[in-house]
Amino acid sequence: MTVDFEIDENLAFVRDYVRAFARDTLRPLAREADEKGKLPTETIKQLGTFAGNRASIMPEENKGNGEKRSSIAAMMAVIGSEELAWGDPAVVLNIPGPGLAAPSIRAAGTPEQQKRFLDDIFNVDSGEPRFGALAVTEPQAGSDVSNVQTTAVQDGDEWVLNGTKMYCTNGARAEIVVVNATVDKSLGRQGQKFFVIEKGAPGFKVGKIEKKMGLTASETAELILDDCRIPFDNILGGAEALEPKGSGFKGTMKAFDSSRPSVAAMALGIGRAAFEYARDWVSSELPMNTSFPRKAAIEQKLGRMKRELDAARGLVWQAAWMADNKIPNSKEASMAKAYAPPAGLRACIGAIQIMGPEGYSKEHLVEKWFRDIKVYDIFEGTGQIQRVVISRKILGRLD
Ligand SMILES: Cc1cc2nc3c(=O)[nH]c(=O)nc-3n(C[C@H](O)[C@H](O)[C@H](O)COP(=O)(O)OP(=O)(O)OC[C@H]3O[C@@H](n4cnc5c(N)ncnc54)[C@H](O)[C@@H]3O)c2cc1C
Repeated sequence: MTVDFEIDENLAFVRDYVRAFARDTLRPLAREADEKGKLPTETIKQLGTFAGNRASIMPEENKGNGEKRSSIAAMMAVIGSEELAWGDPAVVLNIPGPGLAAPSIRAAGTPEQQKRFLDDIFNVDSGEPRFGALAVTEPQAGSDVSNVQTTAVQDGDEWVLNGTKMYCTNGARAEIVVVNATVDKSLGRQGQKFFVIEKGAPGFKVGKIEKKMGLTASETAELILDDCRIPFDNILGGAEALEPKGSGFKGTMKAFDSSRPSVAAMALGIGRAAFEYARDWVSSELPMNTSFPRKAAIEQKLGRMKRELDAARGLVWQAAWMADNKIPNSKEASMAKAYAPPAGLRACIGAIQIMGPEGYSKEHLVEKWFRDIKVYDIFEGTGQIQRVVISRKILGRLD
């Protein structure tokens, strides 16, 4: 296998566009969003317009309908994710769009469902900001997805869902929420199917909104399904999903293969933000008469931060490149996800260390990035779970 590290002019164009957006729009909103724990609706609408412009410069095949995705879609996603998180990881989660609903709808939805659920939500010209969300985690099921307790029972031309979902990003404001539920407990995880719940569905309730140490401007909600009724056609994969080999648990595990590299890229973006901030601070603020041992320690630390972040990018790009080239990449996606968040966290800690008390002060964003980054080692599968996936793949114990 060869990996080409040269990015073509399409990717470079998108990277530069997103980088400018991150620098000029996202970064200036970071501190206020963190302190207030949210963004004004007007700002969210403006973010939607920027996102719409971004969508309009992308090749046609990268928009909504996932039937014909371009051969650089995954690379575009990781390069864009790194830049956006560099701007601000919490503000980014306020950009309207399908969010984590998209990979699972693309992985398990029929072409008609991809069009129905995604085209509209990608269309930001329609006024109000619209979000999508993915709700998998439950009180007893996070890492162990197979233990999901939510049930879906067919009743005529409807499904009736019951259960509780936790920690759902953008769950309270989402127009569509993709949830997994079991249609047949006796089948274990093979009995799990994925469903799209549309806003306003009877029996769909929002529970508590989490208060968090980081990503404070990102909404994280509990969702309660209390005899929640949705149309039969909202099962991802359609009626065929109910056949023994129909899309379900495995289909959505496949979605992780495309979302994990992007989540890893976000951690990389936060780590890079901290590294660059510390580097610039050293250039402009470190007194000329700083002792030799301190200077040497700083140089060592900056070198290690840069080395680890570049290594993380290598793993992230490898996983994305494989996805674009239709090469199975579960192990590589997990390797990127296992490596980038701790590397990014070490970069944030390194930046605080280099800047000393200034790094701990709210005058600078490094303390915020330190709080924000930890969760990248938790959601989309914790670091421990990635390591389990990697070792099972190496030992051939996971198909
Ligand atoms: C800010 C935030 C946003 C989130 N957004 C979403 C979202 O949009 N949608 C969604 O569905 N979920 C979301 N989550 C939930 C997240 O994906 C889960 O918290 C995560 O998967 C861990 O699951 P858990 O909470 O059940 O923890 P547990 O699975 O109970 O894990 C607790 C600890 O035990 C470790 N552990 C568990 N099993 C093993 C094992 N076999 N080997 C070694 N260690 C193990 C874990 O690594 C972890 O450290 C979000 C969480 C947060 C904090």
